[in-house]
Amino acid sequence: MFSLKNKVAVVTGSGSGIGQAIAALLAKQGAVVHILERNKEAALKTLKIIEGTGGEGHVHSCDVSNQEAVIRTFNAIDKIDILINNAGIAHIGTAENTSEADFDKIYQINIKGVYNCLHACIPLMKKHGGGRILNMASVAATVGIQDRFAYSMSKAAVLNMTLTVAKDFIKDNITCNSISPARVHTPFVDGYLAKNFPENQEEMFEKLSNTQPIGRMAKPKEIASLALYLCSDEAQFITGTDYPIDGGFIKLNS
Ligand code: NAD
Repeated sequence: MFSLKNKVAVVTGSGSGIGQAIAALLAKQGAVVHILERNKEAALKTLKIIEGTGGEGHVHSCDVSNQEAVIRTFNAIDKIDILINNAGIAHIGTAENTSEADFDKIYQINIKGVYNCLHACIPLMKKHGGGRILNMASVAATVGIQDRFAYSMSKAAVLNMTLTVAKDFIKDNITCNSISPARVHTPFVDGYLAKNFPENQEEMFEKLSNTQPIGRMAKPKEIASLALYLCSDEAQFITGTDYPIDGGFIKLNS
């Protein structure tokens, strides 16, 4: 079960955190993994992890917000069985204090970046008989997180792109689903705490952990396990669905 032998996967933003864990697991299960990253150094670290477990990976320096670069990169890969749209950035702010520049940046990466990869990948998947698409949304998409106005908006767009793509290409043997994690302990979280709470990082880490009723953050590996399942042949019947993985955040907090 869950073998990805002879499959080719593209994982965007896989130089760090969740994307890195997904890339490593897919490669361990036999997929050839293409690491699409704007940070080449980070991508090379992921490649090292993949090669360390005997897997095959390839690094592509690519900013997902640049359509021309994305199309060029996807066309060079050509046959793609699995696309994981994971690259994304966070932002803190309300509708009142979010600047136009920050709003545009979130749009460019979290929304247009996903669109660019879909736009480039779907014709290739159609040409080769189908494929699996998995988008990284967030619990913010459905509940809206306080002080995360632009970020929540962007993840709601990801959720909706998932639904329309699932409908539009079901006849082409392309499935499209999304994962909505609550907080996951990645370098992003550590960087956020170091920058914003240098005096009381531990206390804030506890606080963020406890926003999940289960009392901790997810581990990137746990998100990767769900991603593996959704990309495997075992999940062929699943499309147009969002999977919260949230330690009870959505259903148990109210
Ligand atoms: P991370 O910051 O650890 O890693 C993101 C990676 O994406 C980085 O390596 C970065 O270089 C890359 N990236 C960013 N912009 C890019 C671009 N324009 N083009 C190519 N690569 C780019 O983040 P993470 O915490 O692993 O998050 C991954 C995804 O999961 C994001 O979409 C995020 O919104 C989502 N998510 C994260 C959490 C969480 O708590 N960490 C929760 C829910 C959803």
